[in-house]
Amino acid sequence: MRKILFVSSEVHPLIKTGGLADVAGSLPLALAELDQEVRVIIPKYHALKLGDDVEYRCTVRVDNKDVNIFETRLPDSNVIVWLVDYPDYFGHPGNPYTDEFGNAWLDSAERFSLFCRVAVEVSQNRAFLDWKADIVHCNDWQSGLVPALLILEPNRPATVFTIHNMAYQGLFSQAEYVALNLPGQLWHPGALEFHEMLSFIKGGIACADHITTVSPNYALEIQTAEYGYGLEGLLHHRHHELNGIINGIDVDIWNPETDTRIPQNYSVKTLAKKAVNKAALQKQYSLPEDPDIPLIGLIGRLVDQKGIDLVIDCLDHIVEHPVQFVLLGSGDKGFEHRLKNLSYLFPDKIAVRIGYNEDLAHLIEAGSDMFLMPSRFEPCGLNQLYSQRYGTLPIVRRTGGLADTVVDAMPESIADKTATGFVFEEASIGAMLETIKRALLLYTNKRAWTQLQKNAMRKDFSWQKSAEQYLNLYNYL
Ligand code: ADP
Repeated sequence: MRKILFVSSEVHPLIKTGGLADVAGSLPLALAELDQEVRVIIPKYHALKLGDDVEYRCTVRVDNKDVNIFETRLPDSNVIVWLVDYPDYFGHPGNPYTDEFGNAWLDSAERFSLFCRVAVEVSQNRAFLDWKADIVHCNDWQSGLVPALLILEPNRPATVFTIHNMAYQGLFSQAEYVALNLPGQLWHPGALEFHEMLSFIKGGIACADHITTVSPNYALEIQTAEYGYGLEGLLHHRHHELNGIINGIDVDIWNPETDTRIPQNYSVKTLAKKAVNKAALQKQYSLPEDPDIPLIGLIGRLVDQKGIDLVIDCLDHIVEHPVQFVLLGSGDKGFEHRLKNLSYLFPDKIAVRIGYNEDLAHLIEAGSDMFLMPSRFEPCGLNQLYSQRYGTLPIVRRTGGLADTVVDAMPESIADKTATGFVFEEASIGAMLETIKRALLLYTNKRAWTQLQKNAMRKDFSWQKSAEQYLNLYNYL
């Protein structure tokens, strides 16, 4: 049995802005089922959704600051979550990265360097918790200083750094580095320095014993200039210690047979009942309640990464077909505005909800016929996995984890029953439109469509296999 400290800036259901929270909320549970002793550590944000099982554990002094550590558990489990409490930094309304008005926190470097220092103290059993880690598993830039600080220590745990998204790096000025009072030995291009800037993510990439990304394909892509953000050379240099492990999903939360957030449960054997959810979704979005019109859903952060500009440019053409489109998301104000305008122009075909709403996300997965995900890059992507489990066929771009998890409906894959969705190559309106048309055409062939839904729903996206891969890695390290 290993003692694993899982360091993350978000964890579902306590706090979530994206896929990292889903991973941090489910991988530790899967590891616990493999008899590992996992502890999760996150900041104690103002916005955390906590139950009444929170207790104070200790106070640790780092960088001349007294930081409290509280303890809770992931719901219905024995997985302990340690909460790093420093109200000056984490006690304000907002999400982990922005204030309540969507402005990035001005003190992100201070916040997450403090968080990393505390994680180091905890992992080394210097925080009065009577627990020393064998493995510290860090995630994304917010935890990137941990592997760097640990290389300065004797008798340290082994470190794993998982990249969920290369696009967010935690870059700050050299002056910030000085102000943070970080060890001078780490200011060099082999550690935290990146073109005379402080790079949190580089701490993880340069200093961790092993690096993983959340899909095999993305592990290859980030070694190229197109996806590497200037770190492709270092990543390629470390390619022997770099691999991709595909994310699983929480198959209890995302299960059409038992999902309590949708009006009608269904399974691969009772697929016809899915129509009840479609009607409910059309009603929610005030669209004509027509069981036969193909309904395309989209949920996600409205940012460049997700190809939202392509979607907007494509919608003008999509509405020429008998089709409905529903969207749930928030992000770039320009995108939000343009999407809203389109919904006013085509009220019978396009419906848009700006915001974050987990209940509605489940209804969209259950009620749509197709799910659109034309990402420019996608480290793993979770929505295409949820979609397949709900028999909602994904239309995706062939990139990152989307390429690893969706099998394009081609004559051979249809014949051998492996097809689960629709895939296009180029990030262009033409390519996307052609593929949507291909999906709409197949939709008219009820038998073929139902077979694809069944192929998709029967796929195993549970954490089991991936958790075993992480465990093998920990054992190796
Ligand atoms: P990313 O991590 O890049 O945001 P993923 O597809 O890996 O993308 O994960 C996104 C997760 O966040 C999914 O669980 C998705 O359902 C959820 N999500 C994103 N936007 C919203 C929203 N507006 N409302 C509800 N859930 C959302």
